[in-house]
Amino acid sequence: MKQSVSKAKPLPEISLKDVGGIHQEMKEEIMQTLSTLKDPKRSSDLGIQAPKGILLYGPPGTGKTLLAQAIAKELGSSFFSASGSAFNELFVGVGASRIRSLFQNARKQTPAVIFIDEVDALAGKRKPHGGEEGEKTLTELLVQLDGGHSNDGILFIAATNRRDMLDEAFLRPGRIDFSFHVQLPDRHGRKEIIDIHTRERSLAPDVQASLSQLAETTSGFSGADIHSLFETASRRAIRNGQKLITKEDLDFALDRTILGSSNQSLQDD
Ligand code: ATP
Repeated sequence: MKQSVSKAKPLPEISLKDVGGIHQEMKEEIMQTLSTLKDPKRSSDLGIQAPKGILLYGPPGTGKTLLAQAIAKELGSSFFSASGSAFNELFVGVGASRIRSLFQNARKQTPAVIFIDEVDALAGKRKPHGGEEGEKTLTELLVQLDGGHSNDGILFIAATNRRDMLDEAFLRPGRIDFSFHVQLPDRHGRKEIIDIHTRERSLAPDVQASLSQLAETTSGFSGADIHSLFETASRRAIRNGQKLITKEDLDFALDRTILGSSNQSLQDD
């Protein structure tokens, strides 16, 4: 069954501080964007247009969804989210009508953020012999994004791992005003993310003391990998009746994460 795309979703208690590894320059641009959106009157007096659409692009698990949620929370907005694939329908007109009702419902609950993950499934480059239905859905999205004043109070955020796949018309300023490249974190970024994900976990003193070293050894890890690492370590500690996460738990979780099997059952532990 397709997920409901046109209802506001509850947001977790989250702020921009919960998103680690964002480069300073991007952080500043996001802050500037937020202040424009928070006070559009003042911004327009200064000749700055509040953005209508933002694209977040980059590898999986780097925090694009998290960032969209944090932006919505900072703006005090309601949050409508869907995956691009939720609009791919074989039945004529269903995808387009889902887009319409998504925007209509968001307009009733402004300020609102509409977040579409995997937007390439919806706004991919049009192919000469591509499906007519997909084309109609994309056209409807463009129509809704061009809604002018009816979109006041709405921020559209799209995310993709494949920016190169997106239709040029979709990326046009006025529809997408800013694109942010959300990259895999560097060592400093990984340390920030490690700190975020250990804030509320009880660590043995030697684990606590080794977190900077961990940031070195987790080169290539995404934020989602780091999250999964500590989830796996915590689960092992709980399973063994411990109160603290030990070095053994962390080493076990590292092996699992590196093998890409951190979600496997712990039966063979
Ligand atoms: P995808 O492209 O696969 O949709 P994504 O970029 O949207 O992935 P998220 O879904 O936001 O990634 O990340 C999954 C989880 O990983 C988050 O809920 C969070 O726990 C953790 N995470 C990812 N990136 C970060 C980050 N930069 N800072 C803190 N936590 C992160």
